[in-house]
Amino acid sequence: MILNFEHFISTYGEKLQLLLFVSIFFIAWNIENFAGVIFNYRKRNHAFVNATFIFTNIPGQFLLGLAFVKITAWASFHRFGFLYYLNFGKHPVVLFVVSFIFLDFGEYIYHILMHKVKRLWIFHLVHHSDNVVDVSTTLREHPGENIIRLSFTLLWVFLSGTAFWVLILRQIIQVFTTLFAHMNFRIPEYMDKIIGFIFITPNLHQVHHHYKKPYTDCNYGDVLSIWDRLFGTFKRLPAEDLIFGVDTHMRKEENGNFKTLFNIPFNKN
Ligand SMILES: [Zn+2]
Ligand SMILES: [Zn+2]
Repeated sequence: MILNFEHFISTYGEKLQLLLFVSIFFIAWNIENFAGVIFNYRKRNHAFVNATFIFTNIPGQFLLGLAFVKITAWASFHRFGFLYYLNFGKHPVVLFVVSFIFLDFGEYIYHILMHKVKRLWIFHLVHHSDNVVDVSTTLREHPGENIIRLSFTLLWVFLSGTAFWVLILRQIIQVFTTLFAHMNFRIPEYMDKIIGFIFITPNLHQVHHHYKKPYTDCNYGDVLSIWDRLFGTFKRLPAEDLIFGVDTHMRKEENGNFKTLFNIPFNKN
């Protein structure tokens, strides 16, 4: 049964991921239209600029996608990576949970590096420069960051020996969590206290998109919020105090223009 499931995810997982992304995006977009928090912006124009990054990210996505297939096949053949030593072979659910937690910790480390290393921040800044955070902000990722992010994931996958089906299943879960975290929407505070105890919610990720430090440098978590709690980077901020963007790049002409955004990492400053 589990073997069939692993086979199904390895074979159809990527198509399912794409289908889910489009469907959840559509649902989230419509929820925002009546239950959003910010309405005074040109939503379609804003989404158009962010969605342009889909095209610039195709080559990196494709090449690193191939690298994931090769690395996971090589690791499985040579039984390379610490997950093979822990021997969860007969317990795929345990294997999935342990791999998931490890990869999520990897995303947390990666995210801190993107903020703390200046040469990396200039790429990640493009995502943060959005003056309105809504579901389309998920797409706003400079191709340079796309390559850096996938290379880091590739490194964690290589070190751990993550199985291909585990990786794809994690990405399917990430479709829900990243789209949810970026929605122009707030969940009730009492629910945020419960869900946010373990998971990153829109309320928590919005604090990360606040225009000023120390708030920008908090809530780094990808799916889980536990790392922020463990390492002291967890913060809350009331909705009325939130201002989205980056204090050094607040000009609307710059933030709403694809070409200017694309050039940010290559500008001398
Ligand atoms: Zn960030
Ligand atoms: Zn974000």
